Amino acid sequence: MPANILLVEDEPAIQELIAFNLVQAGHHVLRASTAEVALTLVKNALPDLVLLDWMLPGASGVEIARKLRADERTRQIPIIMLTARSEEQDKVQGLEAGADDYITKPFSPRELLARIKAVLRRRAPQMTDDAVEVKGLRLDPVTHRVQGNGETVDLGPTEFRLLHFFMTHAERVHSRTQLLDQVWGDHVFVEERTVDVHIRRLRSALEPTGHDGLIQTVRGTGYRFSAQG
Ligand code: CA
Repeated sequence: MPANILLVEDEPAIQELIAFNLVQAGHHVLRASTAEVALTLVKNALPDLVLLDWMLPGASGVEIARKLRADERTRQIPIIMLTARSEEQDKVQGLEAGADDYITKPFSPRELLARIKAVLRRRAPQMTDDAVEVKGLRLDPVTHRVQGNGETVDLGPTEFRLLHFFMTHAERVHSRTQLLDQVWGDHVFVEERTVDVHIRRLRSALEPTGHDGLIQTVRGTGYRFSAQG
């Protein structure tokens, strides 16, 4: 599944090579050579993943990672650090700053793409193509099909994304704001009430197979997808 990847790398040749390989693999790439540009791009739109060079002019990759982790809005963005250093101490520092993974230059495009996939699977499972199944409710991102106990469930595109997000983030409470960010996209100016409208549609689509109860209202907080009662 294509991801919006922010590539922060100051060496033009390396930036070009990485961007080329990401685009070849179907990803969308935004590029930055400095921390300042990187943070401005993140402000404009949340990327699905950040590839972050350690050594940058001005603020380092580690400092950018710390900033992203310290801000509520950007806390969840998966980060992979790129570095020429291979010392264990540096790796520990990078991971402590909040990176999800760490890759040492030089690396092969194949290795990089495999790491990206692994991090997205772990941190943003709704980005991957894996089918998910909970209590007889099955969603397949590849065929874009949903089935409840083998019966086809017809969903609109927003309800599909909403259900996919819920199923890959089960047993957690999500506020309407979080759902808007994750499902509708960051900086989309939609009223919170819109979430309720789509939840209602999703529940009624799931009702015939008895799966509507999986989507629970948590009073005063938001919604939760739960398989436990
Ligand atoms: Ca560099």
